[in-house]
Formats: sequence, C-alpha cells, structure tokens
Amino acid sequence: MTTQSTKIRYNHVNGQIHSAVQQFGRIEGSVQLLAVSKTRSAEAIREMVALGQLAYGENYLQEALQKIEALKDLSIEWHFIGPIQSNKTKPIAENFAWVHSVDRFKIAQRLSDQRPPGMPPLNICIQVNVSGEESKSGCTLDELGEFAEKTAKLPNIRLRGLMAIPQSSGDFDEQRKPFAQLREATERLNKEGYQLDTLSMGMSGDLDAAVAEGATMVRIGTALFGPRS
Ligand SMILES: *Cc1c(COP(=O)(O)O)cnc(C)c1O
Repeated sequence: MTTQSTKIRYNHVNGQIHSAVQQFGRIEGSVQLLAVSKTRSAEAIREMVALGQLAYGENYLQEALQKIEALKDLSIEWHFIGPIQSNKTKPIAENFAWVHSVDRFKIAQRLSDQRPPGMPPLNICIQVNVSGEESKSGCTLDELGEFAEKTAKLPNIRLRGLMAIPQSSGDFDEQRKPFAQLREATERLNKEGYQLDTLSMGMSGDLDAAVAEGATMVRIGTALFGPRS
C-alpha cells in the first residue's frame, strides 16, 4: 500500500527533474533519479518501488545489507554512495550494482578483486573533491587523471563517471560552478578516450543547478521521503 504523501513527493520530484530538463535544454530521459534511502525503512522503500522507482542509494553498509536482504524479492538496483573503509569493500562488491563514492585507487582495486565471478562488472564513479566540497572525501582534480587511468584497467569494475557533493550555496549561479567543474573534468577524460556516461551530482537542495550542468543521475533523499529524523 502506498501512502498518499509518498506518491505526491515522488511525482513532485519527477516533475522537478522534468522541468529542469526542459528549461536547460537537456535530452528527455537523460537524467535518472536515484532515491537515497539512508535511514528509511525497508517498508518505505517497498512503497516507492510500487510507484516504479527501482534505483536506491545507501550510505551505511550494515543498514543497507539488512534492507537488501529484506527486499530481495524485488528487482532493486542498489547503489553505494557513502564513505568506504577499505575493510568493508567485500560486502559492497558482493551486494551492489554501483558504487559512487570511490575516492582512492586502493578502494577501486579491492572492489575489482572482490567482485564475485559471474556477476557483471561493478559500475563505479570516482568521487571528486571539486572546489567548495562539503565533505573532505574525494580525490582532487589533479589526482583524477592518474586515478582514472589505473582504475579503468581493473578487470571487474566499469568506470562510468564522476560524482561530487559540493557545498550548498543559496545562489544558483554559484551553485552551478562546482557542477560545471565536474562536467568539464568528464569532458576532458572523454577527449582522452574514456567513455564516461555518468555525472552523479545534485541532491534535494541543488537538483536544478546539477541538471543545468549535465547531471545524468541525481541523488535525492529528503525531497522524496521527507526530512530525516
Ligand atoms: C544523503 C545523501 C544524498 C541525498 O541528500 P538529500 O539532501 O536528502 O536529498 C545524496 N548524496 C549523498 C552522497 C548523500 O549522502
């Protein structure tokens, strides 16, 4: 059963993405919604799956593993988006389809080594600390070239793109700047021959600015599920 408020928020967020796509001349369907379900119950996720939302992002491994188990009857695509300790890579490699928060080569290497045989390659994004980054995680733009080069050679992961969590700004034009930096970094890598198709950027408070600068996956929690307690 789906509560009315869940449906209203879900439709509202999809409407906001749709409007931003139109406003900024993006291609229809080029921005995917990743529902960020950290701190939300398995039942809250189940309600949203019933509305057609199948991609979910989780930050905390133990919490995520419980929900993955509880919801294994559904075809959910699980994305890991939180900080990664190197001793936690194995369950991440075993249980997720995507990891957005790869911020050092050692983590990429361990995820590739620990991806179980028979599973498709793990999709990963390199987290970049663009200017004004709120969290201290992410590689610098200077480190990115070498990091990407080594990571792209790993056998059991597929480098899909870049991710960032810029500091929020009240000003729309200011908010666009770090997203533009991430887009430009992706364009530089693609000129060198990479085939990156993912820009994981934009959260509840900065979705429009991220779509304006080319986000292909927006990670939305609060606007979808309500405030976190
Ligand atoms: C929590 C979180 C989000 C979602 O944030 P909201 O402001 O609730 O939309 C997105 N990305 C990451 C990495 C997060 O930790």
